[in-house]
Amino acid sequence: MLDCIIIGAGPCGLSAAIEMQDRGLSVEVIEKGNIVEAIYQYPTHQTFFSSSEKLEIGGVPFINKELKPRRQDALVYYREVVRRKGITIRPFETVQQIHRIEEGFEVISLRGEQTMARTAHAVVLATGYYGLPNKMDVPGEDLPHVFHYFKEGHPFYGQDVVVIGGKNSSVDAAIELEKAGARVTMLYRGANYSPSIKPWVLPNFESLVRAEKVKMIFDATIEEITPTDVVYSVDGKSVAVPADFVFAMTGYTPDIGLFADAGVALDPETGIPTYDEETMESNVTGIYIAGVVAAGYDANKIFIENGRFHGELIATNLVGRLERMTAR
Ligand code: FAD
Ligand code: NAP
Repeated sequence: MLDCIIIGAGPCGLSAAIEMQDRGLSVEVIEKGNIVEAIYQYPTHQTFFSSSEKLEIGGVPFINKELKPRRQDALVYYREVVRRKGITIRPFETVQQIHRIEEGFEVISLRGEQTMARTAHAVVLATGYYGLPNKMDVPGEDLPHVFHYFKEGHPFYGQDVVVIGGKNSSVDAAIELEKAGARVTMLYRGANYSPSIKPWVLPNFESLVRAEKVKMIFDATIEEITPTDVVYSVDGKSVAVPADFVFAMTGYTPDIGLFADAGVALDPETGIPTYDEETMESNVTGIYIAGVVAAGYDANKIFIENGRFHGELIATNLVGRLERMTAR
């Protein structure tokens, strides 16, 4: 039996694994993709808003030519951390269930058709939020030209593209699409620019709107997506805007199924799991929360910058618990 199983090899899960290893605990990380899958899924040319030093885990320096690294720099860095620290990752395994057993937990995962079962005294849920896009629940949302992830602008040259949403992913996508020669309309349900937009990005975006290179519509309620248009309403009046492609950058939500299955209580409004902020232990003894999932449905509160410190709290608490168990 392992001391701990960590679910999710994002920066916060990996940081927790290192903190445990440093304290002599046995730990494995189960990951449905591979190391830092969420970062791998970022837009290809994404630049972090954090400086590289604020993304460091396990005391491994993240040395980068520019102050703010790009996606590719971070992929290299986290791979290297895993290699140097010798972290055991179980990639391409999706955890399906967590059962309580006498001395801890049994974690059931699926790799392809194969079911795996592992046991541990403790489990860390570090599953992030990037796997499940927020749905708008409008007709046409599932059409094949509607996407919830943006990679690159190039394929959309000369195309009518509608971007839905009004925070960082939407603004970044709109800027890159315009640069690649797409005709971009952005539909946002808010009345003004969101204060969440990075302050160094907003002036660039606003200048594109002022120059009529991007059409920006506020107070827009999406009604329907058809194969050729997006229908929205402003002040109760319906308008159709042509769309060869639609990027619904409406944010992402944690997969709470696993939490409920494990008995972790969640606030129905905020999605925040019940946990002790000093130890990160949930209402289920031996199940801990790490990373952005601790913020529930709010994707703008916990980042790598602060979530990377959860592992230290968890490892300290777990060492104490295991010592008490062996003393009994
Ligand atoms: P994640 O990185 O999301 O990792 C969770 C992992 O769990 C994933 O790899 C997932 O595949 C895995 N998983 C989920 N469910 C299961 C399951 N059932 N079984 C097995 N594995 C599972 N933050 C910053 O601090 N600085 C930045 O500059 C920054 N820039 C960003 C730019 C973009 C475009 C985006 C989208 C986000 C950015 N963020 C930034 C936010 C940052 O990516 C997240 O806060 C961070 O990834 C959270 O780390 P995590 O380890 O909690 O979760
Ligand atoms: P987000 O911050 O959750 O924003 C989602 C946007 O979609 C919001 O504007 C929201 O409106 C809108 N929206 C949500 N549900 C909707 C619905 N049903 N119908 C219409 N609109 C809807 O998601 P994100 O922009 O993808 O960002 C996710 C995380 O990644 C954040 O932590 C962000 O900081 C990070 N990120 C960072 C960078 C960067 O470093 N440059 C780039 C991209 C993303 P409201 O505004 O009304 O809530």
